[in-house]
Amino acid sequence: MMADGKDLGQHVERLRSLSFDIGTYRPPSEGGSDSLLLRVSENCPWNRCTFCEMYKGQRFGYRAPEEVRADIDRVAAIRDEIRAVSSKLGMGGEFTRELGTALLAAGRDLAGNPSFVTVFNWLAAGGRTAFLQDADSMSMRPQEFTAVLRHLRQTLSSLTRVTTYTRSKTLFKRKPEDLLSIREAGLDRLHVGLETGDDEVLALVGKGVTSAEQIEGGRKAVAAGFQVSMYWMPDLGGRERWRSHAENTARVLSAIDPHYIRSRPLVPREGTPLYDEFAQGRLHLSSPHERLEELAAMITGLEVNSKVCFDHPMNSWSDRRGRLLFRRDYEGYQFPREKPLLLERIREGLAVDESMHVHARRLMAVQSL
Ligand code: SF4
Repeated sequence: MMADGKDLGQHVERLRSLSFDIGTYRPPSEGGSDSLLLRVSENCPWNRCTFCEMYKGQRFGYRAPEEVRADIDRVAAIRDEIRAVSSKLGMGGEFTRELGTALLAAGRDLAGNPSFVTVFNWLAAGGRTAFLQDADSMSMRPQEFTAVLRHLRQTLSSLTRVTTYTRSKTLFKRKPEDLLSIREAGLDRLHVGLETGDDEVLALVGKGVTSAEQIEGGRKAVAAGFQVSMYWMPDLGGRERWRSHAENTARVLSAIDPHYIRSRPLVPREGTPLYDEFAQGRLHLSSPHERLEELAAMITGLEVNSKVCFDHPMNSWSDRRGRLLFRRDYEGYQFPREKPLLLERIREGLAVDESMHVHARRLMAVQSL
């Protein structure tokens, strides 16, 4: 049955009235615009890492569980409105590009409505994944977090994967039984900024955790059944500490054996304490070849069954043909099988003239600031 303009107008009015809280950040591997974004807390409870600009100047806050549940209900209401329009237009309740065009023709302003856009894109991609924001969802009280997760899974039953950011220190502090009940309530994957496993560098950058705590927290998360995705930051120790940074990062990651290890090379961000150190000449960044040598030391020491990924543009070293040295995909290199291949790729990058690395040009741009 085809809808008349008045019918669509009513749906558009309802869509305009529905909104929920969406934060800024998510990992690139969480589906581009395909993941539903839901905020369970606001900003970062730690907010002291010297390299991080993400939540600077913004106060951390827990969101009341009933507020989060109400947001989940609003997502469901948006989904139901969109589905009703699809049915009325004879599209069988499917979420297609044509449906989006019809909705925007009836209400052009919906294109600038983040709640509508997020839910529509999520549905069009199959409605499968959700990412819970902001920086440390596991800092919520476990009982409240499990209640929110259960409501999420019951209300949005198309979800097959729910993921979030958390801190190593929070995992370290959580009881194993709490981690297990959060896992069982429907949280699948944790993204953790490890950055380094070197205690000296951890202290220098204000990470607020020791390598022993990282290992214990990471192991507990793996034992509870989470997929664990850990980020390390090449060059965080600068020229002064590159070797201990590499070796201790390999040591900690080998002890945890997470599912994913993702490289995020250091970029000094203006407005951070680390940027000031860099600008005042107290921190010396490594050259592209030196970063590759650091990578070689880290990868050589890595004894894991993880997927090692270079899924960020700052990993843009080149090979002899001018192509990307490392695969950019989210599944990366499967260890231990592809460890020799990855070491071979690093040797290839070291054989390329340093000036050829895109990465080098980016660093030079930073250094000239
Ligand atoms: S814990 Fe994460 S979000 Fe918070 S300050 Fe450190 S790096 Fe930034």
